[in-house]
Amino acid sequence: MSAALQSDSPVKASILSLSELLASLGSALKGSSNSFALLLVDVADLPTLQARLGFERSAVLLESMATHFALALGARGTVFRFGEGRFAILISAIRNRGHAVLAAEKITRAAEEAMNDAGIIVAPDINIGIALYPLQAADAETLLRKAQLAGAAVRKRHSRMHVFDDSCSSQILKPWELGDAYARALRSGELQVFYQPKLRISDGRVVGVEALMRWLKDDQPVATPDEFIPLAEETGLIQDTTWFVLSNSLQQAATWKDLSVAVNITPGMLHHRDFLEMMLSAVSTWSVKRGALTLEITEGALIADFAQATERLAKLRELGVHISIDDFGTGYSSLSYFKKIPADELKIDKSFVMRMLEDQSDQRLVETIINLARQFALEVVAEGVETQQALDMLAGMGCHFAQGYFFAPALHKDRLRAWLHGKYGQT
Ligand code: C2E
Ligand code: CA
Ligand code: CA
Repeated sequence: MSAALQSDSPVKASILSLSELLASLGSALKGSSNSFALLLVDVADLPTLQARLGFERSAVLLESMATHFALALGARGTVFRFGEGRFAILISAIRNRGHAVLAAEKITRAAEEAMNDAGIIVAPDINIGIALYPLQAADAETLLRKAQLAGAAVRKRHSRMHVFDDSCSSQILKPWELGDAYARALRSGELQVFYQPKLRISDGRVVGVEALMRWLKDDQPVATPDEFIPLAEETGLIQDTTWFVLSNSLQQAATWKDLSVAVNITPGMLHHRDFLEMMLSAVSTWSVKRGALTLEITEGALIADFAQATERLAKLRELGVHISIDDFGTGYSSLSYFKKIPADELKIDKSFVMRMLEDQSDQRLVETIINLARQFALEVVAEGVETQQALDMLAGMGCHFAQGYFFAPALHKDRLRAWLHGKYGQT
């Protein structure tokens, strides 16, 4: 058969390139006063299908799907093959979202029929992104882009179909834009390291600080760490980010007397191929003394690859780097894992500490963690200490250290210095 665009057939059998598809859509829309829906249909797990059926039978199945789609839609539909395992289906006389969803349901059933014909009983794993013309797009390019965005939203939400709306742009494009902005911020100085004091409960002495990142523009937060740290992981910037925090806080720590510094390490960083090298370089560059640097690591990060994590942490401990298990109590590690973790400190998650005054079970949990730490000769820190009552209760339970808004939030280095001086005569 010659090119895909035989106008008499609703199924365009050959697989089109992107520019061919755009040209075909453009000529179908041009001069038409009709309204259309564009459905982008993805066979989600094509490699598995190919592994199960073999390549030849999979190819036959995909062709059969195209035929079933065309039959289901009749004269109103034109089916284009677009990439392997992808179909672009243009359907005329679709005036609203409801019509489009009905058409997508027809397509899902047609895919099932094609699977059944091929002797496969399980439902096909397909997802459908939909955009409407002229309601949402004035040209073929915009129509295809919006259907693609709707398709990406389908995958993100683990649903089967979605008609484009503004949430697709914000869900799919915003993280990208934010990722770009974050990469620029990392270079331009908009990112800063703040420090939250950690106190010994028995004598109220400040023994260290936790380094926490802030993204500020004109003193206003652009995004919170809970938003941009995962972004740094996703966009491959976690290494630069961690180095930024390490270098700033170790440089800073050299100007403080006897304050240790704790740096958070994400799962992606702990398991990064350059992690050990980076840590060794930090320790030697800033001549970090034994016990002067703590790495805070969540249980989840350890369990992701327990053997690798414990081996790496054990090496760092030999150099005198302390290891703290952050957000302790929120993970799922069993005690048999726990006893093998090379750690120096447990950090009780703030959610338990903040609720323990009202909730008996949180109180028991905090007490249990403190006892567990004692049994294993680990130090124990409570974070999220917001009141004198919480501090008193922790003291009664035998908790060693506390951190929280009751003392201070994370502070800029200059404010920390003033705070230490004013409150404790300490620097
Ligand atoms: P995290 O490591 O559990 O840090 C403690 C969080 O609790 C911080 O939030 C801190 O500001 C907040 N906090 C401290 N005391 C109190 C309190 O008394 N009450 C309440 N309600 N909150 C308190 P932040 O700075 O927004 O950081 C959130 C999370 O983002 C951190 O949780 C950490 O997982 C991550 N993060 C922050 N900075 C960094 C960083 O430099 N590197 C990495 N890898 N992660 C970071
Ligand atoms: Ca932490
Ligand atoms: Ca924590």
